[in-house]
Amino acid sequence: MHKGRCQCKSVCYEFGGSPLTCYACHCSDCQSATGSAFTLSMIVNQSDVSIIEGDVAVARFTHNGADIERHCCAMCGSALWFAGKDYPGILALKPGAFDDTTWFSPVAHLWVRSKQPWLVLDSSIKQFEKQPEMSELFGLWASLNTK
Ligand SMILES: [Zn+2]
Ligand SMILES: [Zn+2]
Repeated sequence: MHKGRCQCKSVCYEFGGSPLTCYACHCSDCQSATGSAFTLSMIVNQSDVSIIEGDVAVARFTHNGADIERHCCAMCGSALWFAGKDYPGILALKPGAFDDTTWFSPVAHLWVRSKQPWLVLDSSIKQFEKQPEMSELFGLWASLNTK
């Protein structure tokens, strides 16, 4: 069981399953949505996530053409996870919010064609110029994480 919290600590959630995959996305939508160089996402089954406390607000945006709901802390606005009707039953958790972040690492870098030029990636981690199939990302995670 892994617990995650927003930055102001008013929202706490629990994740009780195994991730389907974890990746970093360097697309321009992720860069402008966060004001940062890339985002980290952990794809999980929605049924494995439960909110323990706090109020969650929902905002809407598009990511590479898909309509996405951004679930965030109603107090501080920290992103907790993303959901989309094109991806029923799964969430993209923002795993930097876990109390313990030592047990996972991304298995791929997405949209490296729009990656910031100063960012040097570990060449042993798979890189995709654009958006790969989710099934390919699930397979990469499964092959690198024995569970
Ligand atoms: Zn908060
Ligand atoms: Zn992205």
